[in-house]
Amino acid sequence: MSADTHERACAVDQNRLRDNLDAIEQRILDACLRAGRPRSEVTLVAVTKNAPDEAVRLLHELAQTHLGENRPQELWRKAALLPPSVHWHLIGHLQRNKIERTLPLVKLIHSVDSVRLLAALDVEAARQNRDVPVLLEVNASAEASKHGFAPEEVPALVDPITRLRRIRVVGLMTMAALEADPERCRPTFVGLRELRDRLARALPPPHDILHLSMGMSNDFEVAIEAG
Ligand SMILES: *Cc1c(COP(=O)(O)O)cnc(C)c1O
Repeated sequence: MSADTHERACAVDQNRLRDNLDAIEQRILDACLRAGRPRSEVTLVAVTKNAPDEAVRLLHELAQTHLGENRPQELWRKAALLPPSVHWHLIGHLQRNKIERTLPLVKLIHSVDSVRLLAALDVEAARQNRDVPVLLEVNASAEASKHGFAPEEVPALVDPITRLRRIRVVGLMTMAALEADPERCRPTFVGLRELRDRLARALPPPHDILHLSMGMSNDFEVAIEAG
Protein backbone atom coordinates (compact mmCIF):
# COMPACT_ATOMS: atom_id res chain seq x y z
CA MET A 1 0.00 0.00 0.00
CA SER A 2 1.08 3.62 -0.43
CA ALA A 3 2.75 5.51 2.41
CA ASP A 4 -0.38 7.60 2.69
CA THR A 5 -2.68 4.60 3.05
CA HIS A 6 -0.27 3.05 5.53
CA GLU A 7 -0.31 6.18 7.65
CA ARG A 8 -4.07 6.23 7.69
CA ALA A 9 -4.20 2.56 8.69
CA CYS A 10 -1.88 3.26 11.63
CA ALA A 11 -3.88 6.35 12.62
CA VAL A 12 -7.02 4.23 12.73
CA ASP A 13 -5.27 1.71 14.97
CA GLN A 14 -4.12 4.40 17.35
CA ASN A 15 -7.59 5.91 17.51
CA ARG A 16 -9.11 2.52 18.16
CA LEU A 17 -6.57 1.79 20.88
CA ARG A 18 -7.28 5.15 22.49
CA ASP A 19 -11.04 4.56 22.30
CA ASN A 20 -10.62 1.11 23.85
CA LEU A 21 -8.47 2.49 26.67
CA ASP A 22 -10.97 5.28 27.29
CA ALA A 23 -13.83 2.78 27.39
CA ILE A 24 -11.97 0.57 29.87
CA GLU A 25 -11.15 3.59 32.01
CA GLN A 26 -14.85 4.48 32.10
CA ARG A 27 -15.77 0.92 33.10
CA ILE A 28 -13.14 1.00 35.88
CA LEU A 29 -14.57 4.31 37.12
CA ASP A 30 -18.11 2.92 37.08
CA ALA A 31 -17.07 -0.21 38.99
CA CYS A 32 -15.23 1.91 41.58
CA LEU A 33 -18.31 4.08 41.98
CA ARG A 34 -20.54 1.02 42.48
CA ALA A 35 -18.11 -0.38 45.04
CA GLY A 36 -17.51 2.95 46.81
CA ARG A 37 -13.79 2.68 46.12
CA PRO A 38 -11.40 5.44 45.06
CA ARG A 39 -10.09 5.09 41.52
CA SER A 40 -6.54 5.31 42.91
CA GLU A 41 -6.93 1.84 44.45
CA VAL A 42 -7.10 0.22 41.01
CA THR A 43 -4.17 -0.24 38.63
CA LEU A 44 -4.80 -1.23 35.04
CA VAL A 45 -2.10 -3.57 33.77
CA ALA A 46 -2.37 -3.81 29.99
CA VAL A 47 -1.41 -7.35 29.02
CA THR A 48 0.55 -7.22 25.77
CA LYS A 49 0.89 -10.93 25.07
CA ASN A 50 0.03 -11.62 21.43
CA ALA A 51 0.01 -7.89 20.72
CA PRO A 52 2.25 -6.64 17.89
CA ASP A 53 5.19 -4.47 18.89
CA GLU A 54 3.58 -1.46 17.23
CA ALA A 55 0.55 -1.74 19.53
CA VAL A 56 2.84 -1.96 22.56
CA ARG A 57 4.64 1.22 21.48
CA LEU A 58 1.28 2.95 20.95
CA LEU A 59 0.07 1.90 24.40
CA HIS A 60 3.18 3.48 25.86
CA GLU A 61 2.59 6.67 23.86
CA LEU A 62 -0.95 6.74 25.24
CA ALA A 63 0.61 6.89 28.74
CA GLN A 64 -0.31 3.32 29.70
CA THR A 65 2.68 2.80 32.03
CA HIS A 66 1.80 -0.61 33.51
CA LEU A 67 2.28 -3.40 30.99
CA GLY A 68 2.09 -7.16 31.58
CA GLU A 69 3.54 -10.23 29.86
CA ASN A 70 3.04 -13.87 30.72
CA ARG A 71 6.25 -15.19 29.10
CA PRO A 72 9.61 -14.03 30.45
CA GLN A 73 11.38 -14.08 27.07
CA GLU A 74 8.64 -12.02 25.50
CA LEU A 75 8.87 -9.55 28.41
CA TRP A 76 12.66 -9.23 27.88
CA ARG A 77 12.14 -8.58 24.19
CA LYS A 78 9.38 -6.00 24.61
CA ALA A 79 11.11 -4.28 27.52
CA ALA A 80 14.04 -3.62 25.17
CA LEU A 81 11.70 -1.74 22.80
CA LEU A 82 10.56 0.80 25.38
CA PRO A 83 12.17 3.16 27.90
CA PRO A 84 12.93 1.81 31.38
CA SER A 85 10.20 4.03 32.86
CA VAL A 86 7.64 1.39 31.85
CA HIS A 87 6.44 -0.71 34.77
CA TRP A 88 6.60 -4.32 33.57
CA HIS A 89 4.57 -7.00 35.33
CA LEU A 90 5.35 -10.68 34.89
CA ILE A 91 2.02 -12.48 35.16
CA GLY A 92 2.98 -15.97 33.95
CA HIS A 93 5.08 -18.88 35.15
CA LEU A 94 8.74 -18.06 35.82
CA GLN A 95 11.27 -20.86 35.30
CA ARG A 96 14.24 -20.64 37.61
CA ASN A 97 16.75 -20.35 34.75
CA LYS A 98 14.99 -17.13 33.66
CA ILE A 99 15.19 -15.36 37.04
CA GLU A 100 18.53 -13.64 36.49
CA ARG A 101 17.49 -11.74 33.36
CA THR A 102 13.96 -11.05 34.55
CA LEU A 103 14.68 -9.47 37.95
CA PRO A 104 16.21 -6.21 36.69
CA LEU A 105 13.31 -5.61 34.28
CA VAL A 106 10.18 -6.10 36.36
CA LYS A 107 8.24 -3.90 38.72
CA LEU A 108 6.31 -6.84 40.15
CA ILE A 109 6.19 -10.61 39.69
CA HIS A 110 2.56 -11.70 40.05
CA SER A 111 3.06 -15.40 39.55
CA VAL A 112 5.20 -16.91 42.32
CA ASP A 113 3.81 -20.41 42.57
CA SER A 114 6.25 -22.49 44.66
CA VAL A 115 8.51 -22.31 47.71
CA ARG A 116 11.35 -23.44 45.48
CA LEU A 117 10.85 -20.42 43.24
CA LEU A 118 10.66 -18.11 46.28
CA ALA A 119 13.99 -19.46 47.51
CA ALA A 120 15.65 -19.17 44.10
CA LEU A 121 14.37 -15.60 43.69
CA ASP A 122 15.76 -14.72 47.11
CA VAL A 123 19.22 -16.06 46.25
CA GLU A 124 19.39 -14.17 42.95
CA ALA A 125 17.95 -10.99 44.51
CA ALA A 126 20.72 -11.05 47.11
CA ARG A 127 23.29 -11.61 44.35
CA GLN A 128 21.91 -8.59 42.46
CA ASN A 129 21.64 -6.61 45.68
CA ARG A 130 17.98 -5.76 45.20
CA ASP A 131 14.69 -6.35 46.99
CA VAL A 132 12.08 -8.18 44.95
CA PRO A 133 8.38 -7.48 45.40
CA VAL A 134 6.20 -10.47 44.52
CA LEU A 135 2.65 -11.71 44.66
CA LEU A 136 1.82 -15.29 45.54
CA GLU A 137 -0.27 -16.95 42.86
CA VAL A 138 -3.25 -18.80 44.30
CA ASN A 139 -5.16 -21.37 42.33
CA ALA A 140 -8.40 -20.23 43.92
CA SER A 141 -10.64 -21.91 41.37
CA ALA A 142 -8.82 -25.25 41.92
CA GLU A 143 -8.33 -25.99 38.22
CA ALA A 144 -5.78 -28.71 37.46
CA SER A 145 -4.47 -26.76 34.47
CA LYS A 146 -3.40 -23.78 36.58
CA HIS A 147 -0.26 -22.91 38.47
CA GLY A 148 -0.42 -21.59 42.00
CA PHE A 149 -0.75 -22.53 45.64
CA ALA A 150 -3.97 -24.08 46.83
CA PRO A 151 -5.69 -21.62 49.20
CA GLU A 152 -5.27 -24.07 52.09
CA GLU A 153 -1.49 -24.20 51.48
CA VAL A 154 -1.06 -20.46 51.95
CA PRO A 155 -0.99 -20.25 55.79
CA ALA A 156 1.94 -22.71 55.86
CA LEU A 157 3.96 -20.32 53.66
CA VAL A 158 4.34 -17.79 56.47
CA ASP A 159 7.19 -19.71 58.06
CA PRO A 160 9.39 -20.17 54.97
CA ILE A 161 8.67 -16.60 53.81
CA THR A 162 9.84 -15.05 57.07
CA ARG A 163 13.22 -16.72 56.51
CA LEU A 164 13.81 -15.02 53.14
CA ARG A 165 15.91 -11.85 53.09
CA ARG A 166 15.27 -10.02 49.82
CA ILE A 167 11.69 -11.07 48.97
CA ARG A 168 8.85 -8.68 49.76
CA VAL A 169 5.49 -10.40 49.51
CA VAL A 170 3.05 -7.60 48.70
CA GLY A 171 -0.12 -9.52 47.90
CA LEU A 172 -1.87 -12.32 46.09
CA MET A 173 -2.80 -13.06 42.49
CA THR A 174 -5.45 -15.33 41.06
CA MET A 175 -7.12 -16.03 37.77
CA ALA A 176 -10.77 -16.92 38.04
CA ALA A 177 -12.22 -19.65 35.87
CA LEU A 178 -13.38 -18.42 32.50
CA GLU A 179 -17.13 -17.95 32.88
CA ALA A 180 -19.75 -16.81 30.38
CA ASP A 181 -21.27 -14.85 33.27
CA PRO A 182 -18.48 -12.98 35.13
CA GLU A 183 -20.74 -12.70 38.16
CA ARG A 184 -19.86 -16.35 38.81
CA CYS A 185 -16.23 -15.26 39.43
CA ARG A 186 -17.23 -13.19 42.42
CA PRO A 187 -16.82 -15.95 45.06
CA THR A 188 -13.28 -16.62 43.79
CA PHE A 189 -12.36 -12.93 44.12
CA VAL A 190 -13.99 -12.54 47.54
CA GLY A 191 -12.18 -15.69 48.69
CA LEU A 192 -8.84 -14.24 47.62
CA ARG A 193 -9.56 -11.00 49.46
CA GLU A 194 -10.35 -12.93 52.65
CA LEU A 195 -7.17 -14.99 52.25
CA ARG A 196 -5.22 -11.75 51.76
CA ASP A 197 -6.63 -10.32 55.00
CA ARG A 198 -5.71 -13.47 56.96
CA LEU A 199 -2.18 -13.55 55.53
CA ALA A 200 -1.70 -9.82 56.19
CA ARG A 201 -2.26 -10.47 59.90
CA ALA A 202 0.18 -13.40 59.93
CA LEU A 203 3.13 -11.96 57.98
CA PRO A 204 5.19 -9.25 59.69
CA PRO A 205 7.05 -6.44 57.86
CA PRO A 206 8.88 -6.01 55.54
CA HIS A 207 6.11 -8.01 53.92
CA ASP A 208 2.99 -6.01 53.31
CA ILE A 209 0.10 -8.00 51.95
CA LEU A 210 -1.83 -5.16 50.36
CA HIS A 211 -2.38 -6.00 46.74
CA LEU A 212 -4.78 -8.27 44.90
CA SER A 213 -4.01 -8.99 41.27
CA MET A 214 -7.23 -10.27 39.79
CA GLY A 215 -9.63 -9.64 36.96
CA MET A 216 -9.10 -10.06 33.23
CA SER A 217 -10.88 -8.55 30.24
CA ASN A 218 -14.05 -10.53 30.90
CA ASP A 219 -14.33 -10.15 34.67
CA PHE A 220 -12.38 -7.08 35.83
CA GLU A 221 -15.42 -5.12 36.97
CA VAL A 222 -16.48 -7.92 39.31
CA ALA A 223 -12.87 -8.11 40.56
CA ILE A 224 -12.90 -4.37 41.38
CA GLU A 225 -16.23 -4.69 43.19
CA ALA A 226 -14.97 -7.72 45.15
CA GLY A 227 -11.86 -5.94 46.38
C1 LIG B 1 -3.54 -13.27 29.30
C2 LIG B 1 -3.55 -13.08 30.76
C3 LIG B 1 -4.31 -12.04 31.34
C4 LIG B 1 -5.15 -11.09 30.53
O1 LIG B 1 -6.24 -11.71 29.99
P1 LIG B 1 -7.23 -10.86 29.08
O2 LIG B 1 -8.46 -11.67 29.05
O3 LIG B 1 -6.54 -10.71 27.77
O4 LIG B 1 -7.44 -9.55 29.78
C5 LIG B 1 -4.27 -11.90 32.71
N1 LIG B 1 -3.53 -12.71 33.50
C6 LIG B 1 -2.79 -13.71 32.97
C7 LIG B 1 -1.98 -14.56 33.89
C8 LIG B 1 -2.76 -13.93 31.60
O5 LIG B 1 -2.00 -14.90 31.08
